[in-house]
Amino acid sequence: MQGYIHSFESMAAVDGEGVRYAVFLSGCPLRCVFCHNPDTWNMTGTLMTPEELVNKVSKYNPYFKNNGGVTFTGGEPLLQAEFIRKTVPLLKEKGINYIVDTSGSVELTDSVKYVLENAQGVILDLKFPDNEGYLKYTGHTMEKTLEMLGFLESIGKSTRIRTVIIPGINDTEEEIQKYLMHIKDKKCIYKYELLAFHTMGFFKYEELKIENPLKDTKPLDVSVKDRLQKFVNSNLGKSIDI
Ligand code: SF4
Repeated sequence: MQGYIHSFESMAAVDGEGVRYAVFLSGCPLRCVFCHNPDTWNMTGTLMTPEELVNKVSKYNPYFKNNGGVTFTGGEPLLQAEFIRKTVPLLKEKGINYIVDTSGSVELTDSVKYVLENAQGVILDLKFPDNEGYLKYTGHTMEKTLEMLGFLESIGKSTRIRTVIIPGINDTEEEIQKYLMHIKDKKCIYKYELLAFHTMGFFKYEELKIENPLKDTKPLDVSVKDRLQKFVNSNLGKSIDI
């Protein structure tokens, strides 16, 4: 069994969640207009076995301490859930935790459930608040994402929801209110985090010679993101760092 790995990145502590080592898995079923990693979309990259991956990751083990660990991201890491499933027991043997950073746009197969159940926590993107937005800006409906959120709630998995705020698309309190409808009754969600749209991945579209649908969109003013984050926090009553 081998998995397609796009790249790796060691990260400093983020949001009190410890030192993370990010494994970017290749492949993604979505085509989000704001994607800054279009180079991860195709199922290509370095082929590795679970053993090879864990050997590489283990070098960072002394830095992980209690709260850190691996972050499986991408692309959509759960497209390769079978590969992660085979990797999890090897990580556990080394005492290494992991979190999964997912769009939720995959079937809830046994492997996906296993990977979610055994994760330290999950970061789930709620990209748009309705099917209309999903279809227009990602090319898929939101049903699978909502099913995954329901599953995470059913198993009580510690979940952070994330949304990218894009100028002219979802940068108002009225829009954010629609997202809140999906998450305000979910006990598994400990944080709802807004991210500001940026243009740092634009060069990749040029390199890959693919059309960038937001090429004329400017980065979101961080003060707008902060204002909307305060709106979220006051509506949800969750403790969120901004
Ligand atoms: S799910 Fe992530 S990697 Fe896939 S297109 Fe959307 S932003 Fe890009």
